[in-house]
Amino acid sequence: MEKIKTLIIGSGPAGYTAAIYAARADLNPVLIQGLQPGGQLTTTTDVDNYPGYKDGVMGPEMMEDFKHQAERFGTDTRWGMVTKVDFSKRPFLIEIDDKENVLAETVIIATGASAKWLGIDDEKRLSGSGVSACATCDGFFYKGQDVVVVGGGDTAAEEATYLAKLCTKVTLLVRKDVMRASKAMQKRVMNTSNLTVLFNHETKSINGDPAKNGVESVTALNNKTNEEVLIPASGFFVAIGHTPNTDLFKDQLDMDENGYLIVEAGTSKTKIPGVFAAGDVADHVYRQAVTSAGTGCMAALDAERFLAAQE
Ligand code: FAD
Repeated sequence: MEKIKTLIIGSGPAGYTAAIYAARADLNPVLIQGLQPGGQLTTTTDVDNYPGYKDGVMGPEMMEDFKHQAERFGTDTRWGMVTKVDFSKRPFLIEIDDKENVLAETVIIATGASAKWLGIDDEKRLSGSGVSACATCDGFFYKGQDVVVVGGGDTAAEEATYLAKLCTKVTLLVRKDVMRASKAMQKRVMNTSNLTVLFNHETKSINGDPAKNGVESVTALNNKTNEEVLIPASGFFVAIGHTPNTDLFKDQLDMDENGYLIVEAGTSKTKIPGVFAAGDVADHVYRQAVTSAGTGCMAALDAERFLAAQE
């Protein structure tokens, strides 16, 4: 069976950065790309906040750059999906695409997290044309404009108050008659003068043409009275949470109540020696390309030191 020094699961900023460092440390990394080669950034257009790209860059182009840089130092990038892992003994047994097995001395998990969407057709239709799931990433594009945010938890409260600093007016649609967010976050929302909360309101449609101006307005439905309200807005932010891609590791690694992997503070180490986690999969707080790249670097350094200590 093929024996790999460092197996990296995931091809987003965390996975490729881990690969760059691991390859340069002679760990001959093999990187399994998964169903979304390049990760979440391949679903967006402009990335303006990644240092080094002074004029900004398109998400897919940036991820091609990451890939080329990792391959320049010898990373073996492979198509496929990790379908099973056995962390009970080292080297770890890893199954790819339900058929092929490999042995890995160290594993870096960089499987990311997926934004939850409402599931309405308009979201897909206007994705990248005014619909977003990340205020930190896209808020700047709506400076001085009106936007709508959907959600009732801490994420929504955080995103709405962040956007209120940039936008003229923010309308927050909350499905229930109360917010799930912490009392402190609710207080922040209520104390923000340009932020209006519409309780008992759901999204009926997001209106606009992706080939013209993108999002132009949102039709919200009051689920108590059945009345509709038309809200002029050029941005629509879905803030109903993320799902970390960690099903594969259930019962083997520690996770928080939302399924994010738990690592030893200040490191990328999971509870299994030799298994490391980087990027969004272990970070429900920052979820940015640059933080993912940073923890990807940490994971490769941790893997290298772990292997060196074994010799
Ligand atoms: P991801 O990018 O999520 O990559 C996860 C990888 O794991 C994927 O390649 C997937 O195929 C793979 N994978 C999953 N399961 C398996 C498996 N079983 N086997 C093998 N592979 C697997 N951040 C910014 O900093 N700036 C921005 O402007 C910005 N804009 C964004 C716009 C959008 C629309 C979205 C959705 C996100 C945006 N973000 C932005 C956030 C940023 O994309 C993420 O923080 C970052 O991509 C996380 O990197 P990651 O490597 O942890 O995981």
